[in-house]
Amino acid sequence: MADYQRICLVHYHEIGLKGRNRSSFEVRLVRNLEALLEPFPVVQIKRISGRILVVLAGDCSYEDACGVEDAIQYIPGVARVSCGYICDREIDIINDAAACALHDVGVFESFKVAARRNHTDFAIDSMEMNQIVGAHLCEQFPQAKVKMKEPDVEVRVEVIQGAAYVYARSLRGIGGLPVGVSGRVICLLSSGIDSPVACWRMARRGAVCIGVHFSGRPAAEATSEYLVDDIAHVLEKTGCIARVYVVPFGEYQRQIAALVPPDLRVIIYRRLMFKVAEALAHKERARGLVTGESLGQVASQTLDNIAATNDAVSLPVLRPLIGSDKLEIIQQAQDLGTFDISSQDATDCCTLFMPRNPETHAKLDKVREAEQLLPIDAWIEHILEEIEVKDYSCPAYTS
Ligand code: ATP
Ligand code: MG
Repeated sequence: MADYQRICLVHYHEIGLKGRNRSSFEVRLVRNLEALLEPFPVVQIKRISGRILVVLAGDCSYEDACGVEDAIQYIPGVARVSCGYICDREIDIINDAAACALHDVGVFESFKVAARRNHTDFAIDSMEMNQIVGAHLCEQFPQAKVKMKEPDVEVRVEVIQGAAYVYARSLRGIGGLPVGVSGRVICLLSSGIDSPVACWRMARRGAVCIGVHFSGRPAAEATSEYLVDDIAHVLEKTGCIARVYVVPFGEYQRQIAALVPPDLRVIIYRRLMFKVAEALAHKERARGLVTGESLGQVASQTLDNIAATNDAVSLPVLRPLIGSDKLEIIQQAQDLGTFDISSQDATDCCTLFMPRNPETHAKLDKVREAEQLLPIDAWIEHILEEIEVKDYSCPAYTS
């Protein structure tokens, strides 16, 4: 079998639905792919006929190609990635490339061929191509069965714009929209299990995520900050996070604990977190806040308490996990690769100065009254002065 140029074809259905925005979405996805595939042996990325073509280096091995395919699969906006070859539009060559593509699949029992031509300037129509390529593959793989319904493998042949693309390996992508097409959000990132998943879900809907983490420092160790950094590195691999602001919050909590009735402390901590996040949103031109809250999961996540914290800010607070069960969230954290990091013990600000019986149904007037005793505006100003920032590479972000 001859060597053909290896390629990946990136499919994206949702983008196709977006009418006039389509082209800007495609451009965004191409740019994200270009940046995220930088470390891989890729020579060209371009749009072709409703797909994105990723051309791999001439000397790219099968293993290298699998690495590229794997990286592409998890990039938001990718519905499917297929790995195969580009070759000349000549039927003998197409046959040969199809055999290479089927060989790459490894173990399989049955297959079928699904050919398509974009223009009638290619003399052989798709039905004929199916038959010719199918017959050739039957010769080359005598053990394999042809099966029209639910075969193990579909060998695709697409004759488009002066070339033929042939592939048999095809993986489902994570879907969604390319990061950068939905604006910016500020994600409240603890080192826990939920908030990284919430952040990732927003990135998968096209938002550029900027994290803010409230550390227990100086009253506690900086362990949670290291964990958040590890989490951000995981999110960074698929271009989902641009930066993380870190707020040493321990001292403010200590003062709140000293001045506010114990049952309202948690709500007041959280209101202050939201206000700081909102100030950062203005600075970053972000249009929403994101948390990992899930209804009823813990004391602060009742509808009354959600209302009492929302009252602290005017930007929309998005809670992508609000209707998810813990087990679903854990599964997603495992798939994402943040679960093991989040499962490590760390004292973040949440575990500091916790009252024994936090209020589960906070009354707004009482909360506001308690908060009035505190120099909130001065604190926010001071927090913004001493805030620390860490940057991550996000192709869709420019500061
Ligand atoms: P998580 O698993 O995300 O830590 P949780 O189940 O521990 O969530 P809470 O402690 O009530 O629940 O936190 C709810 C949400 O508030 C978190 O998902 C996160 O968005 C935000 N949050 C909590 N603690 C912090 C923190 N230290 N820094 C930044 N955001 C936080
Ligand atoms: Mg937590």
